[in-house]
Amino acid sequence: MIDKAIIDQWSSYKSKTKTPFYYYDVDLLKQTVATAKNEADKRGYILHYALKANANPNLLKIIFGAGFGADCVSGNEIFRSLQNGAKQETIAFAGVGKSDLDIQIGLYNNIFVFNCESIPEIENINYLARLKGLKIYNIGLRINPDVDAKTHEYISTGKKENKFGISAWDFDKVIEKLETMKYLRLTSLHFHIGSQITDMNVFVELCQRVNSFNQWFKDRGFELEHINVGGGLGVDYQTPDKNLIPDFATYFSVFEQNLKLFPGQKLHFEPGRSIVAQCGSLITRVLYIKEGKTKNFVIVDAGMTDLIRPALYHAHHHIENLSSDAPEKVYDVVGPICESSDCFAKDVLLPETKRGNFIALRSAGAYGEVMASQYNLRELPHAVFSDKLGSVK
Ligand SMILES: *Cc1c(COP(=O)(O)O)cnc(C)c1O
Repeated sequence: MIDKAIIDQWSSYKSKTKTPFYYYDVDLLKQTVATAKNEADKRGYILHYALKANANPNLLKIIFGAGFGADCVSGNEIFRSLQNGAKQETIAFAGVGKSDLDIQIGLYNNIFVFNCESIPEIENINYLARLKGLKIYNIGLRINPDVDAKTHEYISTGKKENKFGISAWDFDKVIEKLETMKYLRLTSLHFHIGSQITDMNVFVELCQRVNSFNQWFKDRGFELEHINVGGGLGVDYQTPDKNLIPDFATYFSVFEQNLKLFPGQKLHFEPGRSIVAQCGSLITRVLYIKEGKTKNFVIVDAGMTDLIRPALYHAHHHIENLSSDAPEKVYDVVGPICESSDCFAKDVLLPETKRGNFIALRSAGAYGEVMASQYNLRELPHAVFSDKLGSVK
């Protein structure tokens, strides 16, 4: 639940506060971060927060302050993580198309590992490392394990038909190539099979595949220090208040029970969504109620430019009217953008809604603010933090 006291505070800022904005519950983020870190520490696991879920500096300071490493997918994410408290030696760098500049940013910042997704990429990193000279850099192989993440096709990344990772049939070629890569050392295997995964059996299957790949490399004389199983843990979008903090204990115990590490190997995770999704809500105001013949529309001042997940993935966000407790009616909640996909929900029950009401789209902390665009030349949404309400402009 969003605290009523906070709603009152918003209301008092109403004249000053421009909607839409992201509201972040900082206490919830801190609790989530502490739970994940504690459950990982107990098992000796290492966490790298995936910045692409949300790169807001105020949130990053909390996450890195708690001792998370970083998982980056661009040079700018490397800079952003360093500016907000991540340590160089904890930065993993993923991505199927790393540019030369991105790679150089990684090299010059002595990051922990480049997770490589193709032979030409490995050759290019070796070439750029040679230009820089003096040092040998750690790489990991991002492997495509051909596991079905049973999630939306756009956020499924570990099937053989996806663009991500190196497939098993290329391993012989890869290790042959590595022999000639004088500036690189293979230290890890990396996996990331998709996002919003709620079926723990998917992770059991991942563990089984990881075990066999780990053995394959050992049999060929590689002593790999690190296994990195990526992110992907899902959150409860339907009933967020029942599961504000994802069940990290169960998630990690799946790996504890099913993954066979060789002595000295360390296990790494890259959670993104599971850390930040539930602490964020997109707050928007109702512009108009449009009563149709068959449908009633709530037209709000936020759109797909502020939160694209419903338009992009048909994602569900729980919607609350924060200003009304009148009897419920059925509405479609839509944004102002000139696209029919600019619709947050169809046929939802909300208390009777009026112009000026505040609406919350819950569980919007991950892949929300960070994906905002200026399409239609709109303003980017701003962010409000529960611990800094007094400073809302
Ligand atoms: C996106 C991504 C993650 C984070 O995924 P979540 O589902 O948000 O936890 C982790 N690792 C890699 C390589 C990614 O691309």
